[in-house]
Amino acid sequence: MDRVTHRRPGAAPLGMVAVLLAGTLAGCTATASPGGGPDPAGGPPGGSQDSGFLSAPISPFADDWAITGLEPGLRAALHAAAEDAAADGVELVVTSGRRSASYQRELLDNAIRVYGSEEEARRWVSTPELSRHVTGEAVDIGYTDGADWMVRNGARYGLCQTYANEMWHFELVVAPGEVCPTARPDASAG
Ligand SMILES: [Zn+2]
Repeated sequence: MDRVTHRRPGAAPLGMVAVLLAGTLAGCTATASPGGGPDPAGGPPGGSQDSGFLSAPISPFADDWAITGLEPGLRAALHAAAEDAAADGVELVVTSGRRSASYQRELLDNAIRVYGSEEEARRWVSTPELSRHVTGEAVDIGYTDGADWMVRNGARYGLCQTYANEMWHFELVVAPGEVCPTARPDASAG
């Protein structure tokens, strides 16, 4: 009961909703050139080949740049984990993988609008220069049961939750079977 009493009401859920909202807003921007004109996100209209924007979660095995653009070691670990999760009856989906720098910039700009300050936005969305998604070294896992499976089993594949406030964000951090290091508080911690 103490936990409930001292918890900032709705803090974490609000953050999750806002990040999803930011992604949605960025998506609208990324796909707002139906005539095929220049797209600030760098991708073809409605597609994700060059931006990494996903309008819906996709399979870890999908032939999409958000997946194929991942660093090969991370992608292989993700595939192995997804197969074992499926054997456990849990479907892993990817809500975000490789991102272009311009798409990451859109996510951050939208988050700044949502949170009202860059300082707060940076707790949830990194910069194009620092984001591991831009280098293909991070993947976001859904749905909740999938992310939960990965939190509990990811270390078997070297996949670790690296930010305490993002139970969906995983990076290839350790050798398979090693113990994951303690997650940093949030993305603004570096
Ligand atoms: Zn992430």
